[in-house]
Amino acid sequence: MSYTTDLGLYIDGSWRKGEGRDCHTVINPATGETLAELPLATAADLDEALAATAQGFAHWRGVDVNARAAILHKVADLIRERAEGIAVLLTTEQGKPLAEARTEVLSCAAQFDYFAEEAKRSYGRVLVRPTGQRAIVLKQPVGPVAAFSPWNFPVNLMCKKMAAALAAGCSIIAKPPEETPASTSGIMQCVIDGGVPGNVAQLIYGVPDMVSRHLIASPIIRKVSFTGSVPVGKHLLKLAADGVKRTTMELGGHAPVLIFDDCDLEKAITLSATTKFRNAGQVCISPTRFYVQEGVYDRFVAGFTAHTKNVQVGNGLDAGTAMGPLANARRPSAIAALVEDATSKGAKLLAGGTRGEQGYFFQPTVLADVPMSADVMDNEPFGPVALMRPFKTLDEAIEQANRLPFGLAAYAFTENARQANLVADALDTGMVGLNSFVISMPDAPFGGVKESGFGSEGGPEGLDSYYVTKAVHQY
Ligand code: NAD
Repeated sequence: MSYTTDLGLYIDGSWRKGEGRDCHTVINPATGETLAELPLATAADLDEALAATAQGFAHWRGVDVNARAAILHKVADLIRERAEGIAVLLTTEQGKPLAEARTEVLSCAAQFDYFAEEAKRSYGRVLVRPTGQRAIVLKQPVGPVAAFSPWNFPVNLMCKKMAAALAAGCSIIAKPPEETPASTSGIMQCVIDGGVPGNVAQLIYGVPDMVSRHLIASPIIRKVSFTGSVPVGKHLLKLAADGVKRTTMELGGHAPVLIFDDCDLEKAITLSATTKFRNAGQVCISPTRFYVQEGVYDRFVAGFTAHTKNVQVGNGLDAGTAMGPLANARRPSAIAALVEDATSKGAKLLAGGTRGEQGYFFQPTVLADVPMSADVMDNEPFGPVALMRPFKTLDEAIEQANRLPFGLAAYAFTENARQANLVADALDTGMVGLNSFVISMPDAPFGGVKESGFGSEGGPEGLDSYYVTKAVHQY
């Protein structure tokens, strides 16, 4: 399948193409070549989408949950049928290896299937009074949703929001990233063809600041869901505060990994090095700060570095590529600056550290004995950079792991079950992986604490964030 250049906005049941709108140039991050021109929404487009979403909500909230679920299952089936084509689009515009793109697209189908079924179990409750009266607590859809999702998992993160919102009976205006529009549009076509009405799910691209200000200021929007950086999340929270709108914020992380002396070292090395460079490290839950107990520090660093040097970097469409380019032009320079700062302060560069000659490549990088004064110990690199530091005691490791304002994911490797429980309890994060990095699946809550945000996506908690509760007291 070749890259589509026929891009547009999906508003009130029809695709809107260029027609004089400003455009964003879509770039292939592996080659730097222009792929397409993406039309950007005008204020009039947004007003049209807002009016449509209000009508869509009035209709969709009244559709029986089983009928909604049947449509969402059909969407999931279509995503599975079209997965290969959408995966190629995703790799072409985002850079990740094709195998990762396939997994991401299939995860979208899983989201639609999961939330379709979970919504059927969104019961209210009955409060029984001694006088024989009853009060009932109802869950109702919160209303039209504005959803902003980023470029690292363009289709997965859009679907997390869209599948849950639609299952709960909300209408949604999705604004996925402008960098990767063909794959998100491919998913949107599945949503349309699956039978979701054209005013219930809409898709727009635009200048992010203009779009978010416009949509969030509208009284029609009742919920804002955002995945992205901490500064943008804080900004959107302030906008949402003016209308006292519900928000879900899935912001950045800087995940610590505690490697204890008693771990299965080979397993810890292999899983750590493989996971670190998935999606070129552009993952909010990417393992980044490796705190390794002194007894295994040298062996862990050596094993991880050897593995890193073998990571095959290339165009994600090429067979054998294990890591593609970074997703956009901002990332290589941001990462280069962090690596340079760390080495200038004494960190040992054991692998990588350099940019590619074309596209947005950056070599898989290992920094050992990184001083605490290095900027990268505090700021999320959001790229293929692993940081190593030794520790002596459990308490010291926990203190280091919890020292940042981030609190998204953390991991620990230990074969001691009691130690694993102590660590899991003490880590100040929304998610913990023990002897594993697999922590994102449709049926489990995904989200952070502290400045990493609040509100879960995934699991019953993710669905709940699209409901309001109403207590009805009957006398
Ligand atoms: P950024 O802060 O400019 O943007 C982050 C995301 O927010 C992008 O998708 C962008 O389109 C969107 N955005 C930006 N301004 C917006 C606005 N006013 N309204 C609505 N959406 C807006 O940074 P970036 O250069 O795109 O990404 C770099 C940083 O973002 C990374 O270092 C990482 O910390 C963070 N990030 C996090 C995630 C995540 O999964 N939590 C994903 C992508 C980026």
